[in-house]
This record gives sequence, structure tokens and C-alpha cells, in this order.
Amino acid sequence: MAEVLVLVDHLDGEAKKSTFELLTAARRIGEPSAVVVGAAGSAAKLKDSLAGYGAAKVYAAESEDAGTYLVTPEVNALVAVAEQASPAAVLVPATARGKEIAARVAVRLGSGLLVDAVDVAEDGSVTQSIFGGGFIVKSKASKGAPVISLRAGSVEPEQASGAAAEETVSAPAVDAAKSAKITGNEPIVGGDRPELTEASVVVSGGRGVGSAEQFEVVEKLADSLGAAVGASRAAVDSGYYPQQFQVGQTGKTVSPQLYIALGISGAIQHRAGMQTSKTIVAVNKDPEAPIFEITDYGIVGDLFNVAPQLTSEVQGRKG
Ligand code: FAD
Repeated sequence: MAEVLVLVDHLDGEAKKSTFELLTAARRIGEPSAVVVGAAGSAAKLKDSLAGYGAAKVYAAESEDAGTYLVTPEVNALVAVAEQASPAAVLVPATARGKEIAARVAVRLGSGLLVDAVDVAEDGSVTQSIFGGGFIVKSKASKGAPVISLRAGSVEPEQASGAAAEETVSAPAVDAAKSAKITGNEPIVGGDRPELTEASVVVSGGRGVGSAEQFEVVEKLADSLGAAVGASRAAVDSGYYPQQFQVGQTGKTVSPQLYIALGISGAIQHRAGMQTSKTIVAVNKDPEAPIFEITDYGIVGDLFNVAPQLTSEVQGRKG
């Protein structure tokens, strides 16, 4: 069975959930091989969890370059492994970084690039939600092994056992003159909440929330559900919430099990970032708000009345 390369997204010795989603999707096409790019010892720390989601091989591309340069170490490693293994496909997470890596890998391999997929089929074709979620299309690369970036939350991770046989990758060293160097890192200010693009539940607030202080009503509902907090661009532009939490065309793309929109009108650019969520709930005082066109459950009402009731109902059921 042909190998399918999966780029492992990892932090502090742990693989992100999106990696397990990619391994699950990869098993549909062929035999998943995880590619770990990191500092010395990274692959050993990740091996057991990767084996638990069916990784037959773990390629270790360990060097000082990883964490020092942006995307180039990952690109070099994936290209080196792909040239040696002739995989059926290469899968990366559809994060901003992942998309950049996917594009460069596709160019280097001369392969077709399938961006921001929301599903992957056995033949390596994908489903994409395009034009702000207005159309669903099926796409297939016509040249080479497809390089696919898969949107987080699109595939339910399923455990499977894999041998996770470790192989060392000798990728070329990064050419410093042609690469962007990382000069510093700052921890994301997000408290204990899950990462926005990985969360199974997202509660977002819009301009209707009215102020930065009043965003507390969004945070309280999110915390009762163990959810991530998101925001519309209008809320971000108004200074209610930091830009890193913006959902939409020019923000993050999310695809959680449950998306709750509070005081968000549902502009096409917002929908573009959340329309593939499995269940969508909106609270808006305007019954004509476009968000209701895509909701599974719509509540016409004042968010300051509805959200606290939802929060205490959820807390009551937990306690
Ligand atoms: P509004 O459209 O002002 O809606 C506020 C809603 O809150 C209204 O429907 C109102 O009825 C409701 N409301 C008010 N008070 C209450 C209350 N007390 N209780 C309940 N409901 C209440 N937008 C994004 O979100 N993400 C993007 O990435 C993005 N990218 C863009 C890119 C481009 C190129 C452009 C042109 C626009 C982009 N936008 C984006 C902006 C987008 O067009 C909308 O302007 C924005 O999404 C509106 O945000 P909103 O729904 O919070 O605000």
C-alpha cells in the first residue's frame, strides 16, 4: 500500500488534534507516515501518540533549523521524504503556516495542490467549501501526488494501531539567505481555553456584544462549555476582542462540532470562516439577520438575556 505523508503539528512534545485528524484521513488513501520536524528528540516524544492513530512510520527530521526558520525546514523535510517514498498524497493542516508549506511542497514536487479541504476520499480527491461556503466542490489533482491542506475539525479522529517505525530524514540545511528567521516567540494570550481552530465548541461574539467589558458574557458561556472564544471582524475592529480570535475570511477558519454566534449578523465574510461547523446556533435580536439562513438553532432575542441563561443552564447540568 502506498504511503501517505502527514506533517505532524506539535508543541511542547505533544501532537495537536489536527495531526490525528490528518492521520485518520490519510488511512483512507493509503498507509500513513508521520513526518516530524523539530529539535532533537521530538520524534521519540511523539511516537506513541502517532502510533495510536495508525502511523506506520515516523520520519524524524530533527535539526536546529526547526524552530529557527519559518516553514523552510518543514518544506525541505517533506520534499526529501516524498522524493524517497513516492507517496500517494501529502497531508498538512490547513493553518496559515500549513497552507504556506503545502504550496511550497507542491511547487517543489511538481504536484497538484488542493487547499483547505473539508473532506478527503480514498482516491485522493477532496471536498472544498468555497466562495464563503456558498459552493461545495469536489477536486482532484491532475498531476503528481496531491498535496492537500485539510481544515481542522473536518475529519473525526479515529484511533488505530500503527508500528510507528522511526526513520531518520536527512533534509538539506536551510539556506539562511532565502529563509525567514524566527527572532522571537511570545506565548498566545488565551488562558486555559482550547485553541480556536482546534476546539470542538466555539462561542463567538459580534458587534452586538457592544463593548470589550461586555465580552465577558461570551467568555462565560464559552467557559461553561469548555469552548474557545471567537469574534467577528466588527467586534475586533471595534476593539472588543484581540485580532487573533477573529473568525472569517480574513481571520481564522473553524469547523467545530458546535458554533454559537452571539450578536453576529452573518456577513458572507464571517460565514466563510465558520459555515462548515457541524451545528450552528445564533442569538440575534433581529429576526431578519442573515446568520439565521445557516443556523440549525436560531434564537431571536437579546444576547444579554439569552446567553447568561444558557450559561447557568449548562453549569446546572454539569453540577
Ligand atoms: P454587524 O453586522 O454590525 O452585526 C451585529 C449584529 O448584532 C446585528 O445583526 C444585530 O441585530 C445584532 N445585535 C445587536 N445587539 C444585539 C443584542 N443585544 N442581542 C442580540 N443581537 C444583537 N467579518 C468577519 O467576521 N470576519 C472576517 O474575517 C471578515 N473579513 C472581511 C474581509 C473583507 C474584505 C471585508 C470587506 C469584510 C470582512 N468582514 C469580516 C466584515 C463583514 O463584512 C461584516 O462587516 C462583519 O462580519 C460584521 O460583524 P458583526 O456581525 O459582528 O456586526
